[in-house]
Amino acid sequence: MAYINTVKKLPYIYQDITAKNANSLLVVTAAVHGNELVGLKAIDALSNIASKIPLKGRIVVIHGNPEATVQEVRYVDQDFNRAFTATNLISEPTNHELVSAQHLSQLMLNLLDEQASNVAKHLLDIHSMSSTGTPFMSFVADKPPQLIIEQTPIPVIEGIIDSLEGCLAKWFAPYFNSSHIVECGQHQEQSTFDFGFHTLIYHLYLFDMLEDCKQVQQAFDYLSCHTHPYSYLKTNICYRQAVNKDQIFEMQPGFVNLQQVNAGQLLAKISGKKVLAPFDGRVILPCYQRQCEEGYFISQDR
Ligand SMILES: [Zn+2]
Repeated sequence: MAYINTVKKLPYIYQDITAKNANSLLVVTAAVHGNELVGLKAIDALSNIASKIPLKGRIVVIHGNPEATVQEVRYVDQDFNRAFTATNLISEPTNHELVSAQHLSQLMLNLLDEQASNVAKHLLDIHSMSSTGTPFMSFVADKPPQLIIEQTPIPVIEGIIDSLEGCLAKWFAPYFNSSHIVECGQHQEQSTFDFGFHTLIYHLYLFDMLEDCKQVQQAFDYLSCHTHPYSYLKTNICYRQAVNKDQIFEMQPGFVNLQQVNAGQLLAKISGKKVLAPFDGRVILPCYQRQCEEGYFISQDR
Protein backbone atom coordinates (compact mmCIF):
# COMPACT_ATOMS: atom_id res chain seq x y z
CA MET A 1 0.00 0.00 0.00
CA ALA A 2 2.96 2.29 0.54
CA TYR A 3 3.17 3.02 -3.17
CA ILE A 4 -0.49 3.88 -3.65
CA ASN A 5 -0.51 7.63 -3.71
CA THR A 6 -3.91 8.83 -4.81
CA VAL A 7 -2.85 12.48 -4.82
CA LYS A 8 0.05 12.18 -7.23
CA LYS A 9 -1.00 10.90 -10.62
CA LEU A 10 1.92 12.45 -12.49
CA PRO A 11 5.68 11.77 -12.16
CA TYR A 12 7.13 13.22 -8.95
CA ILE A 13 10.32 13.12 -6.91
CA TYR A 14 9.89 10.10 -4.66
CA GLN A 15 13.17 10.42 -2.81
CA ASP A 16 16.06 12.88 -2.69
CA ILE A 17 19.14 11.84 -0.73
CA THR A 18 21.98 14.34 -0.61
CA ALA A 19 25.21 13.32 1.06
CA LYS A 20 28.34 15.35 1.69
CA ASN A 21 30.72 16.07 -1.22
CA ALA A 22 27.88 16.17 -3.73
CA ASN A 23 30.03 16.14 -6.86
CA SER A 24 27.90 13.51 -8.56
CA LEU A 25 24.20 13.14 -9.25
CA LEU A 26 22.42 9.84 -9.85
CA VAL A 27 18.86 10.16 -11.13
CA VAL A 28 16.94 6.90 -10.73
CA THR A 29 13.69 6.47 -12.61
CA ALA A 30 11.49 3.89 -10.88
CA ALA A 31 8.10 2.37 -11.77
CA VAL A 32 8.18 3.89 -15.26
CA HIS A 33 6.05 0.80 -15.82
CA GLY A 34 3.52 1.17 -13.01
CA ASN A 35 3.51 -2.46 -11.85
CA GLU A 36 7.33 -2.62 -11.51
CA LEU A 37 7.95 -1.61 -7.90
CA VAL A 38 11.58 -2.70 -7.64
CA GLY A 39 13.11 0.78 -8.02
CA LEU A 40 10.87 2.25 -5.29
CA LYS A 41 11.63 -0.63 -2.92
CA ALA A 42 15.36 -0.40 -3.66
CA ILE A 43 15.47 3.28 -2.72
CA ASP A 44 13.36 2.64 0.41
CA ALA A 45 15.96 0.10 1.51
CA LEU A 46 18.80 2.48 0.65
CA SER A 47 17.26 5.43 2.50
CA ASN A 48 16.94 3.23 5.62
CA ILE A 49 20.72 2.83 5.76
CA ALA A 50 21.78 6.08 4.03
CA SER A 51 23.02 7.71 7.25
CA LYS A 52 25.13 4.65 8.12
CA ILE A 53 27.06 4.18 4.86
CA PRO A 54 29.77 6.41 3.30
CA LEU A 55 27.64 7.92 0.53
CA LYS A 56 28.91 10.76 -1.63
CA GLY A 57 26.78 12.83 -3.98
CA ARG A 58 23.05 13.18 -4.55
CA ILE A 59 20.53 10.47 -5.45
CA VAL A 60 17.16 11.59 -6.77
CA VAL A 61 14.45 9.03 -7.49
CA ILE A 62 11.52 9.84 -9.76
CA HIS A 63 8.36 7.72 -9.56
CA GLY A 64 7.59 7.50 -13.27
CA ASN A 65 3.97 6.38 -13.57
CA PRO A 66 2.25 6.60 -10.16
CA GLU A 67 -1.24 6.41 -11.67
CA ALA A 68 -0.38 3.06 -13.30
CA THR A 69 1.09 1.94 -9.96
CA VAL A 70 -2.24 2.75 -8.27
CA GLN A 71 -4.07 0.75 -10.93
CA GLU A 72 -1.44 -2.06 -10.66
CA VAL A 73 -0.90 -2.03 -14.43
CA ARG A 74 2.08 -1.54 -16.74
CA TYR A 75 0.51 1.61 -18.21
CA VAL A 76 -2.82 3.42 -18.39
CA ASP A 77 -3.14 4.38 -22.08
CA GLN A 78 0.16 3.57 -23.77
CA ASP A 79 3.64 2.33 -22.88
CA PHE A 80 5.24 5.23 -20.97
CA ASN A 81 8.68 3.97 -21.96
CA ARG A 82 7.87 4.66 -25.63
CA ALA A 83 6.45 8.14 -25.03
CA PHE A 84 9.68 10.18 -25.06
CA THR A 85 9.90 11.56 -28.60
CA ALA A 86 10.34 15.14 -29.82
CA THR A 87 6.85 15.13 -31.33
CA ASN A 88 5.19 13.83 -28.16
CA LEU A 89 6.95 16.36 -25.96
CA ILE A 90 5.85 19.40 -27.97
CA SER A 91 2.37 18.30 -29.09
CA GLU A 92 -0.87 18.75 -27.15
CA PRO A 93 -0.92 15.55 -25.05
CA THR A 94 -3.86 13.24 -25.74
CA ASN A 95 -3.53 10.59 -23.03
CA HIS A 96 -2.20 9.96 -19.53
CA GLU A 97 1.29 8.82 -20.53
CA LEU A 98 1.78 11.72 -22.95
CA VAL A 99 0.80 14.21 -20.22
CA SER A 100 3.17 12.35 -17.88
CA ALA A 101 6.05 12.45 -20.40
CA GLN A 102 5.85 16.24 -20.64
CA HIS A 103 5.62 16.52 -16.86
CA LEU A 104 8.59 14.20 -16.27
CA SER A 105 10.62 16.03 -18.89
CA GLN A 106 10.07 19.35 -17.10
CA LEU A 107 10.90 17.74 -13.75
CA MET A 108 14.14 16.34 -15.18
CA LEU A 109 15.19 19.60 -16.85
CA ASN A 110 14.53 21.58 -13.64
CA LEU A 111 16.59 19.08 -11.68
CA LEU A 112 19.49 19.26 -14.14
CA ASP A 113 19.31 23.07 -14.14
CA GLU A 114 20.01 23.08 -10.39
CA GLN A 115 23.29 21.22 -10.85
CA ALA A 116 26.65 22.93 -11.01
CA SER A 117 28.39 22.33 -14.34
CA ASN A 118 31.19 20.25 -12.77
CA VAL A 119 28.77 17.67 -11.34
CA ALA A 120 28.95 14.21 -12.95
CA LYS A 121 25.41 13.15 -13.86
CA HIS A 122 24.20 9.57 -14.30
CA LEU A 123 20.81 8.12 -15.16
CA LEU A 124 19.63 4.67 -14.02
CA ASP A 125 16.22 3.35 -15.08
CA ILE A 126 15.15 0.35 -12.96
CA HIS A 127 12.67 -2.23 -14.28
CA SER A 128 11.45 -5.77 -13.69
CA MET A 129 10.23 -8.51 -16.06
CA SER A 130 7.10 -10.59 -16.60
CA SER A 131 9.17 -13.78 -16.98
CA THR A 132 11.57 -15.35 -14.54
CA GLY A 133 15.24 -15.65 -15.45
CA THR A 134 18.52 -13.90 -14.92
CA PRO A 135 18.49 -10.12 -14.47
CA PHE A 136 20.54 -8.00 -16.86
CA MET A 137 21.56 -4.45 -17.68
CA SER A 138 21.70 -2.48 -20.89
CA PHE A 139 22.87 1.02 -21.78
CA VAL A 140 22.60 3.80 -24.32
CA ALA A 141 25.31 3.22 -26.95
CA ASP A 142 26.80 6.72 -26.96
CA LYS A 143 26.52 7.16 -23.16
CA PRO A 144 27.97 3.91 -21.78
CA PRO A 145 28.69 3.68 -18.03
CA GLN A 146 32.12 2.29 -18.92
CA LEU A 147 33.33 1.19 -15.50
CA ILE A 148 30.01 -0.51 -14.75
CA ILE A 149 30.04 -2.39 -18.06
CA GLU A 150 33.57 -3.62 -17.32
CA GLN A 151 33.15 -4.46 -13.65
CA THR A 152 29.54 -5.32 -12.80
CA PRO A 153 28.79 -9.05 -12.56
CA ILE A 154 25.35 -8.32 -14.11
CA PRO A 155 25.08 -9.64 -17.71
CA VAL A 156 25.23 -6.80 -20.23
CA ILE A 157 22.86 -6.90 -23.20
CA GLU A 158 23.84 -4.36 -25.80
CA GLY A 159 21.41 -2.79 -28.27
CA ILE A 160 18.03 -3.04 -26.52
CA ILE A 161 17.54 0.62 -25.72
CA ASP A 162 18.84 2.01 -28.98
CA SER A 163 16.32 -0.04 -30.97
CA LEU A 164 13.36 1.41 -29.05
CA GLU A 165 11.78 4.68 -30.16
CA GLY A 166 10.62 6.84 -27.26
CA CYS A 167 12.62 5.09 -24.55
CA LEU A 168 13.21 7.26 -21.44
CA ALA A 169 16.84 6.21 -20.87
CA LYS A 170 17.68 7.08 -24.47
CA TRP A 171 15.77 10.37 -24.62
CA PHE A 172 17.46 11.87 -21.55
CA ALA A 173 20.92 10.38 -22.25
CA PRO A 174 22.24 13.57 -23.93
CA TYR A 175 21.88 15.41 -20.59
CA PHE A 176 23.89 12.81 -18.65
CA ASN A 177 27.42 11.41 -18.55
CA SER A 178 25.96 7.90 -18.68
CA SER A 179 22.59 6.20 -19.04
CA HIS A 180 21.78 2.57 -18.23
CA ILE A 181 18.87 0.35 -17.34
CA VAL A 182 18.62 -2.73 -15.14
CA GLU A 183 15.95 -5.43 -15.44
CA CYS A 184 15.99 -6.93 -11.96
CA GLY A 185 13.92 -10.13 -12.25
CA GLN A 186 10.26 -11.14 -12.18
CA HIS A 187 7.83 -8.39 -11.06
CA GLN A 188 6.65 -9.91 -7.76
CA GLU A 189 9.58 -12.01 -6.56
CA GLN A 190 11.36 -10.95 -3.36
CA SER A 191 14.73 -11.68 -5.03
CA THR A 192 13.89 -8.99 -7.61
CA PHE A 193 13.63 -6.34 -4.88
CA ASP A 194 16.86 -7.54 -3.26
CA PHE A 195 18.56 -7.47 -6.66
CA GLY A 196 17.44 -3.86 -7.22
CA PHE A 197 18.83 -2.77 -3.86
CA HIS A 198 22.19 -4.48 -4.35
CA THR A 199 22.47 -3.11 -7.89
CA LEU A 200 21.92 0.39 -6.54
CA ILE A 201 24.63 -0.10 -3.89
CA TYR A 202 27.19 -1.64 -6.24
CA HIS A 203 26.63 0.79 -9.10
CA LEU A 204 26.83 3.77 -6.70
CA TYR A 205 30.22 2.38 -5.67
CA LEU A 206 31.35 2.08 -9.32
CA PHE A 207 30.15 5.67 -9.93
CA ASP A 208 32.39 6.73 -7.01
CA MET A 209 29.29 7.83 -5.08
CA LEU A 210 29.80 5.30 -2.30
CA GLU A 211 33.06 4.43 -0.62
CA ASP A 212 34.04 0.81 -0.19
CA CYS A 213 32.25 -0.70 2.80
CA LYS A 214 30.66 -3.92 4.03
CA GLN A 215 27.50 -3.24 2.00
CA VAL A 216 29.49 -2.93 -1.24
CA GLN A 217 31.07 -6.33 -0.69
CA GLN A 218 27.67 -7.83 0.17
CA ALA A 219 26.17 -6.29 -2.97
CA PHE A 220 28.96 -7.67 -5.15
CA ASP A 221 28.53 -11.14 -3.65
CA TYR A 222 24.74 -11.01 -4.11
CA LEU A 223 24.92 -9.83 -7.73
CA SER A 224 27.57 -12.44 -8.58
CA CYS A 225 25.55 -15.24 -6.99
CA HIS A 226 22.22 -14.21 -8.52
CA THR A 227 23.52 -13.86 -12.09
CA HIS A 228 25.27 -17.24 -12.12
CA PRO A 229 26.07 -18.80 -14.64
CA TYR A 230 25.72 -15.64 -16.76
CA SER A 231 27.83 -13.23 -14.66
CA TYR A 232 29.93 -10.91 -16.88
CA LEU A 233 28.17 -12.21 -20.03
CA LYS A 234 28.19 -9.71 -22.90
CA THR A 235 25.55 -10.33 -25.57
CA ASN A 236 24.15 -8.20 -28.41
CA ILE A 237 20.54 -7.87 -29.56
CA CYS A 238 20.19 -9.11 -33.16
CA TYR A 239 16.42 -9.46 -33.49
CA ARG A 240 13.26 -7.85 -32.11
CA GLN A 241 9.87 -9.56 -32.37
CA ALA A 242 7.42 -6.67 -32.68
CA VAL A 243 3.80 -7.14 -31.62
CA ASN A 244 1.13 -4.85 -33.05
CA LYS A 245 -1.84 -3.66 -31.02
CA ASP A 246 -4.28 -5.80 -33.02
CA GLN A 247 -2.22 -9.00 -32.65
CA ILE A 248 -2.48 -11.58 -29.88
CA PHE A 249 0.96 -12.66 -28.71
CA GLU A 250 1.37 -15.96 -26.86
CA MET A 251 4.87 -16.95 -25.79
CA GLN A 252 5.31 -20.72 -25.53
CA PRO A 253 5.46 -21.60 -21.83
CA GLY A 254 8.68 -22.12 -19.92
CA PHE A 255 11.13 -19.71 -21.55
CA VAL A 256 13.38 -17.79 -19.19
CA ASN A 257 15.45 -14.69 -19.85
CA LEU A 258 18.85 -15.39 -21.50
CA GLN A 259 17.90 -19.00 -22.35
CA GLN A 260 19.71 -20.47 -25.37
CA VAL A 261 17.40 -21.15 -28.36
CA ASN A 262 18.09 -22.76 -31.73
CA ALA A 263 17.15 -21.71 -35.27
CA GLY A 264 13.71 -23.08 -36.13
CA GLN A 265 12.64 -23.63 -32.51
CA LEU A 266 9.00 -22.78 -31.77
CA LEU A 267 8.99 -19.68 -29.56
CA ALA A 268 5.51 -18.21 -29.72
CA LYS A 269 2.25 -17.80 -31.59
CA ILE A 270 1.09 -14.49 -32.99
CA SER A 271 -2.67 -14.48 -33.56
CA GLY A 272 -2.47 -18.27 -33.76
CA LYS A 273 0.43 -18.37 -36.25
CA LYS A 274 3.63 -20.17 -35.20
CA VAL A 275 6.76 -18.03 -34.75
CA LEU A 276 10.12 -19.80 -34.95
CA ALA A 277 13.56 -18.62 -33.81
CA PRO A 278 15.24 -17.04 -36.87
CA PHE A 279 18.73 -18.19 -35.78
CA ASP A 280 20.64 -19.62 -32.81
CA GLY A 281 20.95 -17.22 -29.89
CA ARG A 282 19.48 -16.25 -26.54
CA VAL A 283 15.87 -15.30 -25.92
CA ILE A 284 15.70 -11.95 -24.11
CA LEU A 285 12.65 -10.61 -22.21
CA PRO A 286 10.15 -13.30 -23.27
CA CYS A 287 6.78 -11.63 -22.69
CA TYR A 288 4.22 -13.34 -20.45
CA GLN A 289 1.92 -10.37 -19.84
CA ARG A 290 -0.97 -8.93 -21.77
CA GLN A 291 0.45 -5.46 -22.38
CA CYS A 292 3.57 -5.78 -24.53
CA GLU A 293 5.19 -4.13 -27.53
CA GLU A 294 7.82 -6.82 -28.10
CA GLY A 295 7.22 -10.54 -27.77
CA TYR A 296 10.92 -11.14 -27.18
CA PHE A 297 14.36 -10.21 -28.45
CA ILE A 298 17.11 -12.56 -29.61
CA SER A 299 20.76 -11.88 -28.86
CA GLN A 300 24.07 -13.43 -29.81
CA ASP A 301 27.12 -13.41 -27.54
CA ARG A 302 30.12 -11.24 -28.35
ZN1 LIG B 1 9.64 -2.10 -17.38
